[in-house]
Amino acid sequence: MSNPEHPSAEASPRAYTGPRAGSSAGGTGRGVFNLDSLVGETVDAEPISAQCPACHLHALVPVRLVADAEGRWRQLEEGDDEGVKEGDDEASAPGEAGADAAPRSLLIDTCPVCFGAWFDAGELDVIGDVEVDPELLRTALGDPAARRCPRGHGPMLQHKLPELLRTPIERCATCKGVWLDGNERRKLALASTKEGQRDRKQQLARRGVIWAAQLITQLPVEVENPARGTPWIVYALLAVELAGFLLSVAGVLLYRHWAVIAGLIKQEPLHVYTLFTHQFFHANWLHLLGNAYFLYIFGDNVEHMFGRARFLLLFFGAGIFGGALHVLLTRATGTPVIGASGAIAGVMAAYLLTFPNATLFQVIPFTPIQIKIPAWVYLGVWVLFQTVMAFLSAAIDYAWFSHLGGFLFGAAMTPLVLRWRRRQVAREVRVPAAPFAA
Ligand SMILES: [Zn+2]
Ligand SMILES: [Zn+2]
Repeated sequence: MSNPEHPSAEASPRAYTGPRAGSSAGGTGRGVFNLDSLVGETVDAEPISAQCPACHLHALVPVRLVADAEGRWRQLEEGDDEGVKEGDDEASAPGEAGADAAPRSLLIDTCPVCFGAWFDAGELDVIGDVEVDPELLRTALGDPAARRCPRGHGPMLQHKLPELLRTPIERCATCKGVWLDGNERRKLALASTKEGQRDRKQQLARRGVIWAAQLITQLPVEVENPARGTPWIVYALLAVELAGFLLSVAGVLLYRHWAVIAGLIKQEPLHVYTLFTHQFFHANWLHLLGNAYFLYIFGDNVEHMFGRARFLLLFFGAGIFGGALHVLLTRATGTPVIGASGAIAGVMAAYLLTFPNATLFQVIPFTPIQIKIPAWVYLGVWVLFQTVMAFLSAAIDYAWFSHLGGFLFGAAMTPLVLRWRRRQVAREVRVPAAPFAA
């Protein structure tokens, strides 16, 4: 039923402005009661408070996208006013420029962990500049998905685009919103369309492919979490590691007194404290900077996901466990072992388990060129770096068991933390992902 005293539903230019545009309801900021919500079409005008339906590790975070002159969309950074008029809340004022002016900004809800994104009805059309083919969505109707609508409408439906994706796209039959996995978005962005399909089903699938490719190639595949805090523990650890190195270089502390020496611990168990202290010393600048780099790259994301106390437990737990494994298994019983490598191996294991599909931006040194590198490549580079360091330090089987031990510690601890975190997120949002409601 439309409300005759509230003409905005008719006046708003199609789905174009996005369902959360507020249209002419007047100053509909987030959290402000919106008359549009009385009109059936715009039930979803209020902000989402939902657990990510894919990874369950984070609440969905609103992210504003703006279109540039070429129609490409990018994330609007904090304090970046370009392209958006003052006072605009969701889409640019639709009434002023007429119905054919596409909005220049759009608010979507995305998961900063897995980069999946939720599009309310109409939002995909705004980006793709085409409407979702209703025929496609009818024929591609599949089984109820395990994932649930972040607007609280229960299980979504799966839509298969077999030419394009192995995994289906989820869509809510009630509010018509669409969920796209971060993974799917990456694959969609890479996908090209094929010619020459014959039967009707394939034709429809092809139409779906073109639709999807059209809109996905214009989207930023990954968006940064604007709400992430400062990684204080990572900074503190970097400072402590630097201090330990400088003190040993200056001769104030003699690193041999704090290093793990397997034979010594076996003889005199009192030296077990070195399992903790050996992490604060490094052999040389290269050793220190290499470890600091990998801690910096991976540590901030892991600290954010784990929380400070658990991150500290991960770091020192991995370092101590790695040291202990080294003491038990190494043949180089007289070699002093120092460095945070075992602890950092634990952080890397945590990162890979938490962000299995992550790619990292990396600037090629001495150029402005930015490339994207899968996280597992970093792990390879790290292993290579450790190997080089091992040979530079002239101890053949340096500390491999401590690295392995640190990695194992991280791999064992992370699933427990992720389970805790999923429960935690489920408690904090209005719409939890079902299995974690307990
Ligand atoms: Zn997620
Ligand atoms: Zn829904």
